[in-house]
Amino acid sequence: MICNNISVNGAGHLTFAGVDTVELAKKYGTPLYLTDGDKIRENCRVYLEAMREAFGEAAMPLYASKAASYKEIYRIMKAMGMGIDVVSSGEVYTAMSVGFPMENAYFHSNNKTDADIEYAMDANIGYFVVDNIEELDAIAKIAARRGVKQNILLRLTPGIDPHTYAAVATGKVDSKFGSAIETGQAEELAVYAMGLESIKLCGFHCHVGSQVFDSDVFVRSAEIMLDFVCMMKNMHGFTTEILDLGGGYGVRYLDSDPTIDIRASILEVGRFVKSHCETIGIECPAIRMEPGRSIVADAGMTLYTVGTVKRIPGYKNYVSVDGGMADNPRFALYGSPYTVVMANKMADAGESFVATVAGRCCESGDIIQEGVTLPASATRGDTLAVLTTGAYNYSMASNYNRLPKPPMVMLEGGNDRIVIKGETFEDVARYDV
Ligand code: PLP
Repeated sequence: MICNNISVNGAGHLTFAGVDTVELAKKYGTPLYLTDGDKIRENCRVYLEAMREAFGEAAMPLYASKAASYKEIYRIMKAMGMGIDVVSSGEVYTAMSVGFPMENAYFHSNNKTDADIEYAMDANIGYFVVDNIEELDAIAKIAARRGVKQNILLRLTPGIDPHTYAAVATGKVDSKFGSAIETGQAEELAVYAMGLESIKLCGFHCHVGSQVFDSDVFVRSAEIMLDFVCMMKNMHGFTTEILDLGGGYGVRYLDSDPTIDIRASILEVGRFVKSHCETIGIECPAIRMEPGRSIVADAGMTLYTVGTVKRIPGYKNYVSVDGGMADNPRFALYGSPYTVVMANKMADAGESFVATVAGRCCESGDIIQEGVTLPASATRGDTLAVLTTGAYNYSMASNYNRLPKPPMVMLEGGNDRIVIKGETFEDVARYDV
């Protein structure tokens, strides 16, 4: 199986974190989000230990909480000693409501509203990661009115497209995020920030992309960012305290996806950062990384119940389930691959067939996955599992077709407990007047 928390038991049922998924579907109903809490902690530990070893005690991983944002995950991050990246007042609220230490929170996004800025300052947010000059001016103005000096990082684009990196190292300057180093705008913005009374420029941030399997992408972006840090020191006498290299490490959605050793990759980046700092003659700033997907994706699984099995001879087969794009819009949005299995028929050695797994929404784009091989015995009432759904599923869920959002059950040490209640129809209609 694609992750070591997935197996099959003697009854031929899929297990997740050691628990029978068919029993969980019976107990809680479907659709059902499952989260392996032990796996989340294990994934955090990899970053915490590797980053300390690679970059020293001042290093800290920040969990990019857009990947999955709910109270229990911020409790886990607090207990593990992780920082967090938040992108909205809603995420600030959720983290704060469980006592997350907000000095370790970094507020991203390319367009923070004045209300976001005020709210985050009320929450004593540690840092704003500022995207552009309008935002910088807005933060500076609000901080000045409050009589505070606000810590910020500037988001820069190092000009790397992780997916065409080997061939082209100049892409992504046209990104909607950040200010480009290549065009000189990054330097201009940094110098401008240095001159603002109510702003403390603490350092710089970049994020080159997602589903990155190649350490070289991080090494290359670290090099560009460190060269920028060096230029800021030599040309403007500025000392960078914090350098945030972003998130993006890939996870395995399919058996054919590569496996990445995140610890080894971080250590490799660490060796490069140390030696490059020596070469260019700068102190190594405190390093941050912002993993989202690689903290939670393989800690998630979604269970559904099969409703209809439709065979269109000569064309296509459909297996429709009781959820879909409302709980997982990622295939509809960008054709994301997933591994899909029939959880109650893992030992079925009979005939198989290839089907499109479709959701229940009135929308032909409501597909979970195309070309899935399932047992030919697939029928109404079967339990279907979609693996590796821990990232950007619950956090992207909607109430399309007035479907209530499913509950989330956390599995830890073989026990199961609800960490997000399933919505009711009353919840869905709560704000209608
Ligand atoms: N940091 C920033 C600024 C991002 O935009 C993202 C993802 O969009 C992340 C971190 C997390 O990326 P990933 O979930 O791929 O690790």
